[in-house]
Amino acid sequence: MKIAILGSTGSIGTQTLEVVRAYSDELEVTALAAGSNVDLLEKQVREFHPKIAALWSKEKADELRTRLRDMDVRVVSGMEGLLEVATVSDSKVLVTAIVGMIGIRPTLAAIEAGKDIALANKETLVCAGHIIIPIAKEKGVSILPVDSEHSAIFQSLNGERHNKISRILLTASGGPFRGKTRKELENVTVEDALKHPNWSMGQKITIDSATLVNKGLEVMEAKWLFGVEYDDVEVVVQPQSIIHSMVEYEDGAVIAQLGTPDMKLPIQYALFYPNRRYLSGDRLDFSILNQITFEKPDMDTFEGLKLAYEVGREGGSLPTVFNAANEYAVDYFLKGRIAFLEIYEMIKSCLSAHTKIEKPSVEDILNTQSWVEDYIKSRYK
Ligand code: NDP
Ligand code: MG
Repeated sequence: MKIAILGSTGSIGTQTLEVVRAYSDELEVTALAAGSNVDLLEKQVREFHPKIAALWSKEKADELRTRLRDMDVRVVSGMEGLLEVATVSDSKVLVTAIVGMIGIRPTLAAIEAGKDIALANKETLVCAGHIIIPIAKEKGVSILPVDSEHSAIFQSLNGERHNKISRILLTASGGPFRGKTRKELENVTVEDALKHPNWSMGQKITIDSATLVNKGLEVMEAKWLFGVEYDDVEVVVQPQSIIHSMVEYEDGAVIAQLGTPDMKLPIQYALFYPNRRYLSGDRLDFSILNQITFEKPDMDTFEGLKLAYEVGREGGSLPTVFNAANEYAVDYFLKGRIAFLEIYEMIKSCLSAHTKIEKPSVEDILNTQSWVEDYIKSRYK
């Protein structure tokens, strides 16, 4: 099967390529895209021989083209490049391992072109779920979750699609600051926030895990992927990240997927669905695991989750404002321009200044993102 990857140089992208390497007799890479990491993308092109390679930065794409003169590969750049990778003629699946709302247009283009989507890029679904899900249905393409929680839910729904879900129990590790008070969060550093207890991931999602914004985005992602209401999605803190999420049915039965934390499992499950394949690595050893514990999320301290439920229920353009404001806020926090708790302040400030659009089109969503950018730039010099 031929696949294309948006964001091949990142955490999910490189792990996807590890899966391709392990199953090179079955999986073939036909197009790769990244932002600016010319060194790694060059290596990937030399190893996996895609037909197309894209870098967002035109300058870096020019450099890559020069470096790859000896190879038969088309090097492209910018949004046009991403669209080309997303719709490359012979690919069956697009893995959306790119970070942020930049994924919206290429994901939609891939769906329009009939590609199945192995979806890691949750920001796209959060902002444009109301557009993406109906088009995917119309085109008959599958959206296969890569996010570990959603993969666990997807696995827990196997053979149960005809049954009524009473609740989705979305698990959360609680992040590096679980148990801390607001006061204690005032002076946390970027370095502290980047220390995730169980998962090694890209910087943006790692900060989102510390604010619980990630869990909020995942609640919205679950709503769209599984067609449920917000009242039916409950977040359960499970600090060891052993239970990856659960589904409760109307008879009270709870089905869960458990395992050691390894993103290659959901990645390869999405690529080989409905089949499972061997994956090397540690197995759960219940004799030493000893305990799995549960807590309620602290939504008063970690406002990101509470705000996500609010904007999700309100709908329209509010999830876009929430997500876009968070993307800029995380960038500012990583650059040391704002404090940790100001991430929430920035999101709230954008939400209260915004005039809601009921059913935003893709253009409305992208305009809303630009509005958020201008608003933040004017307020945080
Ligand atoms: P990383 O930051 O590790 O990687 C992001 C990738 O996107 C890189 O390849 C980067 O390229 C590329 N990229 C960024 N901007 C652009 C652009 N403008 N044009 C083209 N490519 C671009 O992120 P993650 O892998 O951690 O996350 C990716 C997505 O998956 C996110 O939506 C995240 O929420 C989701 N996800 C991640 C999980 C994880 O375990 N990491 C778990 C569940 C979901 P470059 O290297 O050149 O900058
Ligand atoms: Mg997740």
